[in-house]
Amino acid sequence: MGMEATSVKKKEQIQAKKPVEIEVVEVWCKGCNICVQICPKDCLALDKNGKVEVVHLENCSRCLLCELLCPDFAIRIR
Ligand code: SF4
Ligand code: SF4
Repeated sequence: MGMEATSVKKKEQIQAKKPVEIEVVEVWCKGCNICVQICPKDCLALDKNGKVEVVHLENCSRCLLCELLCPDFAIRIR
């Protein structure tokens, strides 16, 4: 039982990822809203200046859709 528990714990540690970071290059963001609409977790919104902002980082599933679909390469997931 001890061995099994240890190996499960190790596997979980290996699979654990570092916390997600969402990097926005504000000067490149044109506020097209694509990422906001495509995000399945509602992590993103446009701020009062029409630039994307992260509103729910904790929900991000790292699906990368925002990064892949931003026409201006203004958002990156790390
Ligand atoms: S990686 Fe996916 S879940 Fe995270 S902010 Fe982008 S679209 Fe949303
Ligand atoms: S898809 Fe890119 S340009 Fe459009 S709002 Fe999102 S970050 Fe800004």
